[in-house]
This record gives sequence, structure tokens and C-alpha cells, in this order.
Amino acid sequence: MSIPQHTTGWSEALVRDLPEGIVTIDRDGRILFINDSAGRISGWSSADALGRSISDVFPLSTGNGKLLEQLSFSSVSLPPVNILTRSGKEITVTIRTTELKLPGNAVPETVLLIRDITAEDAVFRLRSYFLANISHEFRTPLSALKASVELLLEGLEGFKLDETLELVKSIHFSVTALQTLIDNLLESVSIEAGRFRIRRQATDLKRLLTESAMLMKPLLERRNQNLVVTIPEDLPKVRVDPMRITEVLTNLISNASKYGPIDQPIEVALAMGESNWIKVSVSDRGPGITSEDRANIFHRFVRATENDKAQYGIGLGLSVVKSIIESHGGTVGVDDRLGGGSVFWFTIPVEEP
Ligand code: ADP
Repeated sequence: MSIPQHTTGWSEALVRDLPEGIVTIDRDGRILFINDSAGRISGWSSADALGRSISDVFPLSTGNGKLLEQLSFSSVSLPPVNILTRSGKEITVTIRTTELKLPGNAVPETVLLIRDITAEDAVFRLRSYFLANISHEFRTPLSALKASVELLLEGLEGFKLDETLELVKSIHFSVTALQTLIDNLLESVSIEAGRFRIRRQATDLKRLLTESAMLMKPLLERRNQNLVVTIPEDLPKVRVDPMRITEVLTNLISNASKYGPIDQPIEVALAMGESNWIKVSVSDRGPGITSEDRANIFHRFVRATENDKAQYGIGLGLSVVKSIIESHGGTVGVDDRLGGGSVFWFTIPVEEP
């Protein structure tokens, strides 16, 4: 293809404005040209990058040699590589090289097409993480259910009442865990698809809290945790979607139970805030949330670095909590608890029915 004279400006604009980074190098790997996108990706201005080695402007973050050693001067695509930007941030890029044959006797250059795929890579990793963990999340309560039901079937006639009760409680526990997991999955799918709607009605929060406590009973009993509830006398009704707020409460209480220590009570308090807000807080004596994790744990599939190994989970519950509360016009947050632990809270605006 030849470019007519009058389109020279057009081809320059194309190279400049393409979202892909374009760099050309000589046989020694020295940068001869770098477009704005490559500058944005690497953090190097064109003035600073020209004449430098490609390995210095796009240093590999893994410490496994230099980029130049991995490049081919003919047409080839490299597998994704991690590089460090000028400010030290690690990003993932794909690089394709191709030979640029220039007119006349000019020495050929090598073109690098560079694409920043950090965001796509993160989504891909999240998906793999999710798929790897979701089967485990289902299998654990299902195996426990199967074992309890089999024991019941085998020995029902010979069992004493308290033995039978223990097995039924264990079944109840597994069913509760599965129910929370499935509710969170379904909510999360409908939030992502933009199909999430709430149905508000005049609701007594005290009743919802009692129902949530009943639902969470098997989890709390298993870890010998009491639920200590504080509710002011004349709390007004709120206009909320009762099913969704129950989901919020059960998620927060089940996290407090899961991450909080055995034998320690969990406190739930409802309080009237300023300008007609009701604040609901769930406090535990668990490991707490570090300030680095605080901003992220309400995002999907994010688990706090320290706590994730200690307990099962896939990092969905808090993202569902946040979406539900925000669609009611409220806010969610987490604070350190005096004496250790965390206080997860949310607010709901009071609208007299
Ligand atoms: P999951 O518990 O399934 O991982 P969540 O979205 O409910 O998912 O929670 C996200 C992360 O936040 C958890 O993995 C855990 O690291 C942290 N977390 C949530 N609640 C608490 C809590 N009460 N105490 C300490 N860490 C918590």
C-alpha cells in the first residue's frame, strides 16, 4: 500500500493516536521512535526515551534477563510479559515485533507493537480464581451434608435423641452455608447484568434482625458465639427491600462469626443517626481489616490478604452488601474496633411510610 503525499499528516496522526504503543529500534535495541501511547504505557517521555535501550525503557519486572534478549527482529508475538513503568508500577504487556523495511538503502528497523493488558489480565485471573474456588465452596458443605445424612440413614433407629439432634444441626449448618453462597452468587450475577431491582416496603428493622439471627443460628452455635443485640426503643420503620436487607445482615453476621474467634460474642447495634439515618453495626473481635485492605474488600472476589487462608470464602459477600445498601441510598464501611476486631456498618435513610 502506498500513502499519497497529501495523507502524510494523516499517517502521522494515526501512529500518534493509536492506543497501541509503537516503538522502533535499531539492531542494538536503541529506541529510534516512540509514539505517545508507548510513552503513556512506560511512563517515559519521547525526549527521555529516544536513544536509550528498549530494555531500560521497558525493564522486565521478573529479573529474568532483559527484554532485548527475548525479542526477535522478525515478525513474532511474545507471550505476555510483566514490566516496570518508570514510576515502578508493575504492568502486563503483550509485544509483537515486525521488521520495518525502509525505502532505499536505509537500515531496516524493528517495530514493537505494545499493548497494556493489565486490566484484562486481572479479570482473567479473577475468573480463574473464582472457578478454582467456587467448586471447593460447594463441595465442603455438600460433603458435610452427605456425611450427616448417611449417618442418619444408617443408624436412625439406634440413635439417641441428642445424637440425632447433633446430626440435624450439622445438616442445618451446611444448608445455611449453601443458601448464603447461592444467594450471593445469584445477586452478584443480577448486579453485573444490570438486572438488580429492589422492592421497598415499610419494614421493621428489629424484625429483620430477629429473622437474620434465626437464620445464622447454626453458624453461631457451631462456634459458640452469642449475638448481643442493642436496639433503641422507638426506632422508626424504614422503607427497604426486606429480603435484601436480611441478606446484608446475614452476610455481615456470618463474616463476624467466620473471622471472629470461637466463644466470643458478636454485637449488633441499631442506632438512630443524625438527619434521619439509621446506622446498623456488626462488631467482632476478629483480626480486623488493615488500612490497605479497607478500600478493596467491598469489591468482587477480593479477600483480605491475611484472612483469606484462615477461612473458606470467595470474596462475594461484601460486594453484594455494598450494592444492596447503595441501591437503598445508604453507605457501607468498616472501622477498627476499640480493643481489637472490626466494626462493619451500614446506614439506611429513614423515610416514614
Ligand atoms: P468471603 O468471606 O467469601 O471471602 P466477603 O466479600 O464476605 O467474602 O469478604 C471479603 C474479605 O473481607 C474476606 O475474604 C475477609 O478477608 C475480609 N473480611 C470480611 N469480613 C471480615 C471480618 N468480620 N473480619 C475480618 N475480615 C473480614
